Amino acid sequence: MHFDAIVIGAGFAGLYQLHGLRDRLGLRVRVLEAGGDLGGTWYWNRYPGARCDSESHAYRYFFSRELNDEWQSTERYPGPPEIRAYLDYVAKKFDLRRDMKFGVRVTAASFDEGTNRWRVETESGEQCTATYLVAAVGCLSAANVPDIPGLKDFRGNWYHTGQWPQEGVDFTGKRVGQIGTGSTGIQAAPVIAQSAAHLTVFQRTANYSVPARNAPLTPEFKRWVRDNFDEIRGIARSTVNGHAFRISERNVADVTPEEREAVYQAAWETGGLQFRATFRDLVTDRAANATAAEFLKARIRAAVKDPATAESLANIDHPYAAKRPPIDTDYFETFNRANVSLVDLRADPIERITADGIRTEGKSGRREHALDIIVFATGFDAMTGPLLKMDIRGRAGRSLREDWKTGPETYLGLQMPGFPNLFTITGPGSPSVLTNMPVAIEQHVDWITECIGHLRRNGIETIEPSAQATREWTATVQEAAQATVLWDAKHSWYFGANVAGKPQVFMPYAGGLARYAKLCEGVAERGYEGFVLGRAKAPA
Ligand code: NAP
Repeated sequence: MHFDAIVIGAGFAGLYQLHGLRDRLGLRVRVLEAGGDLGGTWYWNRYPGARCDSESHAYRYFFSRELNDEWQSTERYPGPPEIRAYLDYVAKKFDLRRDMKFGVRVTAASFDEGTNRWRVETESGEQCTATYLVAAVGCLSAANVPDIPGLKDFRGNWYHTGQWPQEGVDFTGKRVGQIGTGSTGIQAAPVIAQSAAHLTVFQRTANYSVPARNAPLTPEFKRWVRDNFDEIRGIARSTVNGHAFRISERNVADVTPEEREAVYQAAWETGGLQFRATFRDLVTDRAANATAAEFLKARIRAAVKDPATAESLANIDHPYAAKRPPIDTDYFETFNRANVSLVDLRADPIERITADGIRTEGKSGRREHALDIIVFATGFDAMTGPLLKMDIRGRAGRSLREDWKTGPETYLGLQMPGFPNLFTITGPGSPSVLTNMPVAIEQHVDWITECIGHLRRNGIETIEPSAQATREWTATVQEAAQATVLWDAKHSWYFGANVAGKPQVFMPYAGGLARYAKLCEGVAERGYEGFVLGRAKAPA
């Protein structure tokens, strides 16, 4: 079967891309989704404590005022069921489901230079073709289960948070081991601890966290969200990170130490990612950052009663926000419970997984941690993983896996040379994971939709970036990161450091969403500068 466009993935990106291509351009579009329903990351991430860390009035689409008027979130940070309900509402409102197919995993896609079409193959052996192929596969959808020796010997059950069983997991009376203390682990541990007999948290890298301070939304706030659509959207689209809060104009050095502490304290009490917005230079100036880091480490020491545990939790080796900053509900306080313990893997590394649990060996000698369940909160093969899981082949059979052997190279995170008419939404080289995702997604989808509209109006058959534009943009992405403290955390997943054998290249564009959106706009206005546009061949 042939379509004008195939969109892979039915999360925020896939849904809106379908709407854009079908309802604005009138194309015949099919969405293929591996999950059993729409939702993308929110279909798979059902682990205990899962919750969005963008606020609900910004974690939504802004393309439709009517949609904004109709949908009311119930909490400051929505959980997966509410986000899925929102996406379901969107799908119904815009009649999207009729062009979506679920339970279909795309395994390969290859470009046929004779017909200028993409051939898409699925796990079940189905094939279809399309003129345009849009990968809306998400940045954090390829689960990373580390290769720790002995996992196959474990007699209990184990789960990865990003592939959580739909029916949930009952921890009642169980001895649970959780590996990982990133955004996910920090959300999961307090909830698991409430029902488990015992929870052991295995921490490799200590992490900052700011309280989320989640709460139900008041009727007044809901009204404010409805009545201030333009303002909220305006802020979200004009900041570096797509959130609906402004970043302070002040630098840390502009205020006295007392004023600074008061600013941090107020942000701590407000809770959430706004903490990062307290001073303009927090992510660009190491000394400024160190003041925030010290404030947050002091909060950890104040929250955790056992001094040794507090020290392990506060022994953080990177600047604040250099790794993705988590927000939490009672994470550090959880370590005051009698049924929770921390294993500091820097002192006592995992030696292996055994039939009965996890064995560590280090400063405390050899220790067996008896477990019934292991939870891997170990993150994702981020950004490139979801794309490279598929065998994507462009002109002359050229393989994306080969091209990206030393790291991803894209033009604006939107396209790769030699892969005509293939678009990536929030791909490597775009602001993506450094932003409130729906805002970044809308910007990409709007750009791609406009671009495809331009191609069709002007009889252009193919678009792909030039090698030079791609090289230059790839260098720009590295330079943008070098100008921030994000460059200091070489062990972060932004560099691919969490996956064995992955090339160490900073993947997202750290220059800010608003600046990036302007760049993309300018490129389009200048006739798709940096792209090679292929016209239909005249008949021989
Ligand atoms: P993550 O940030 O990559 O954290 C994974 C954790 O597992 C880290 O503590 C890591 O330690 C540890 N780990 C990995 N391999 C290990 C090994 N072999 N042995 C011991 N420890 C190991 O993953 P995540 O927490 O799932 O978060 C990923 C991203 O998803 C976040 O940064 C965020 O962008 C997104 N997210 C968002 C939300 C939200 O909206 N609320 C919630 C969850 C996640 P090291 O640090 O030492 O590598």
